[in-house]
Amino acid sequence: MTKRAKDSEAKDISMADIFGDGGLLAKRHQTFEFRRGQLEMAEIVEEAFAKHQHALIEAGTGTGKTLAYLLPAIRSGRRVVISTATKSLQEQLYHKDIPFLQKHFAPDLKVALMKGRNNFLCRHKVHLMAGQPVLKGIDEVDWFAQIRDWEKLTETGDRAELNFLPDDADLWHRLDARSDTCTGQKCDEFQNCFITSMHQRAQDADVIIVNHHLFFADLAIRQDDFGAILPEYSAVIFDEAHEIEDVASDYFGRGVSSYKFDELSRDAEQTLKLLSIDAPTLRKAITRMRERSHSFFEFFGSREGRHPFEPAERATFVEQHREPYEDFTTALKRVEAEMAALPAKPEEIVGLARRTMEARRELTFLLESDEKNYVYWFERRGRGVFLAATPIDVSTILREKLFDQFDTAVLTSATLAVAGHFDYLKHRLGLDMVRERVLPQEFDFREQAILYIPERLPDVRDASFPARAAEEIVELLEITEGRAFCLFTSYVQMRDAFERVKSKVDFPLLLQGTAPRSVLLDRFKTTPNAVLFATASFWQGVDVPGAQLSCVIIDRLPFAVPSDPIVAARVRALKEDGRDAFAEYQVPEAVLALKQGFGRLIRSRSDRGVLAILDNRIRRMRYGRIFFESLPDYTTTGDLADVERFMQNS
Ligand code: SF4
Repeated sequence: MTKRAKDSEAKDISMADIFGDGGLLAKRHQTFEFRRGQLEMAEIVEEAFAKHQHALIEAGTGTGKTLAYLLPAIRSGRRVVISTATKSLQEQLYHKDIPFLQKHFAPDLKVALMKGRNNFLCRHKVHLMAGQPVLKGIDEVDWFAQIRDWEKLTETGDRAELNFLPDDADLWHRLDARSDTCTGQKCDEFQNCFITSMHQRAQDADVIIVNHHLFFADLAIRQDDFGAILPEYSAVIFDEAHEIEDVASDYFGRGVSSYKFDELSRDAEQTLKLLSIDAPTLRKAITRMRERSHSFFEFFGSREGRHPFEPAERATFVEQHREPYEDFTTALKRVEAEMAALPAKPEEIVGLARRTMEARRELTFLLESDEKNYVYWFERRGRGVFLAATPIDVSTILREKLFDQFDTAVLTSATLAVAGHFDYLKHRLGLDMVRERVLPQEFDFREQAILYIPERLPDVRDASFPARAAEEIVELLEITEGRAFCLFTSYVQMRDAFERVKSKVDFPLLLQGTAPRSVLLDRFKTTPNAVLFATASFWQGVDVPGAQLSCVIIDRLPFAVPSDPIVAARVRALKEDGRDAFAEYQVPEAVLALKQGFGRLIRSRSDRGVLAILDNRIRRMRYGRIFFESLPDYTTTGDLADVERFMQNS
């Protein structure tokens, strides 16, 4: 037995003794209900730990999967990393589930919560900034005074404790503990630093809670033997594991943005000011770098969205804009040279020179490299331009760096399986030998939800579809008295439907993009009969239990946009391999997305409501069968009168 588990709960106590009907959890957890799926999951996770295997478990909402993986992880006696998709799930594990387990099962359990460095305060910057005239406006002066007081009291330095500071406050960005601006062991505050303490807590911990971004940032660094963020561990559990391919693609890819150069200029200017370095030629070089960066990135145009930037297109671009491109790289080299020429070089300046060189090399790679296996693209998002190279396929990387290195990886989520099996996910992630299980659903979906697929609507590609779909939305909203999410596959379709519907209903309508996501969600939860129009970012990770969300309407089957450079490159790669990209990639992706979207509706045993998909290809096309085989067994109808009856009986 490990020292963490209570003496009385030695290893001979089985998962059934804990999760079973009348078991230990029933005695210690006020709202515990026996769930067969939860017990089964706990047994699979326990076995995966014992046999040093990987496991894939689809566990629908209501399974109680958090305890089902935490308890076996704790009892394994190994250091386990738990990786979640969002910070809010991290917080929930750390502040709710872990204290419960510590109280009732493992009083000595040591747990560390790790987040990205930009969530923490840099003490060194606070001390430097105090007394310097670098604060802008009365708000910053006030916030800074509060942060200085807080710095003396806080144990973690985590900005989540600062509820007065707006999410987008620029001041935080100038005070955070980003590695870019950290001088590490050379810093006077190193021993006292919040990042050092976070790493120490992780070194001592049995369980480390991270999010996927931090996990893959660490995994990508480990490959270079350059150091690591996480301490050694032998097992990892991914919750919301359906997101890991995307996150891994980001961290094993390469990228640079116009913001990166803005940030570099700003950090450099602030450092000169804070360290009182009088270097007029360096200042001039920094100004020139900023100007050259702005003019260079202007050439990417103003068209929003992601655009392909493959070798031929990049070569043409470089040819057409050779002069501004060379001016820009020369300006970057000039900054590096001016920094190198300073008579005294504090660590901050050494760090800035290194960052400038790395950003220049990244820029050159993204414009000139012809390394295969990457898809090259750029994106215009507001005022920013992002250049990136994303791996077309992360399966080989993940197999080598993750699944072959760590002997236990448990992947769980409510949406992992397509038509009852995991072939798609295993192929995408490079996961071969694995224990797999789709757990039975905890909810009675036939009773709790009705799936409406209107028969009378034309094909989504028909010119009359948008108007007819809007009429259908209006009728559905009348039946459910608002209380609905209308989810779209594109912004254009979302706005179009919103415009068509808004004058025809009296319910409070909310539109994505008019306020931050969290604000819109709060408004939705607290406004009676509200209706939210939104796109992909609301398809997952949103939890609105109860009657406030009684209807989810989806306009089209959520096939990824084929012109998206990453999607296009992945489709092309499969075709070149002689595979059927539509069946093997596009359909399974859409199936998982639809399961996610519909999954917003039924969050507890008492929830009831309407799901509507206005795209009747799901009935007409052969591939529609795969969607039906993947979705829960809803009562299904094409007749609006059935929906009305269902709601009247709710
Ligand atoms: S070690 Fe780095 S992050 Fe920590 S206080 Fe010093 S400079 Fe800031």
